[in-house]
Amino acid sequence: MQEIKGDYISYLVFEGMAEQSGLRHGVSLRRPGPKAASKESIDFSPNHPDQARQCIDYFCRALELDADNLVRVRQVHGTHIETVTEPLSPPPEADAVCTNVKDLGLMLLGADCPLLILFDPEIPALGLAHAGWRGTTGRIAYKLVHHMRESFGSNPHNMLAGIGPGVCKHCYEVGMEVVREAQKHLRDFDLVLEPIEEADPRPGKQRWHFDMVKANEMQLVEAGLSLTNITRSNCCTLEQEHWFHSHRRDDARAGRWALLAGMR
Ligand SMILES: [Zn+2]
Repeated sequence: MQEIKGDYISYLVFEGMAEQSGLRHGVSLRRPGPKAASKESIDFSPNHPDQARQCIDYFCRALELDADNLVRVRQVHGTHIETVTEPLSPPPEADAVCTNVKDLGLMLLGADCPLLILFDPEIPALGLAHAGWRGTTGRIAYKLVHHMRESFGSNPHNMLAGIGPGVCKHCYEVGMEVVREAQKHLRDFDLVLEPIEEADPRPGKQRWHFDMVKANEMQLVEAGLSLTNITRSNCCTLEQEHWFHSHRRDDARAGRWALLAGMR
């Protein structure tokens, strides 16, 4: 991803989408810009509402989106997709959101879970998804493509996708509960789960590395996207502490970064 350094906030954009004149998008970085009011991390966590509001304001301004025309949802690690035409109050429970309305901002938060963006420049239409292990094994990426087909008439072949920063497979160890869900719902699950040899071999104690980025990429391809239209961030939120908040690293104190996007 390419880093854009702003006066108040810095963010990353997907190379494969940066040139799209009909789309504004970015993934926020922790370090505040030189003109930011506070030297504290950029943090969208609802635990710090004043700071979050300030960060939303900075990010919307940087992407030339209206902070008063921004759709928020309450992420619950599910697979519900909300189609939106305006901000909803209170924010609905959803882990994916999509629209065909221009100048409407969509925002999701992350702290290790990959966030995805889908853009169909032809309709045009935009969708975001929160794909932690529950969303990924619940096939949220596949479902969002399908949902955008049904709702807007999007052709997956025209869609561009970005798979945002998240905890990488080397840093992400999971147990049997995740493996079971993956086996149940994911095609070729053995390509995204790797047993950890040195882990305790006793039943119930085994551990695996789970490649959520690849699992989501495979779902997008299965749903009809061209591999060449999918960009991966290749960032790891756990390792890149200077850039990202991480729940695995910082536990309950962890802040949140944001994926923000809107069409013009
Ligand atoms: Zn990592």
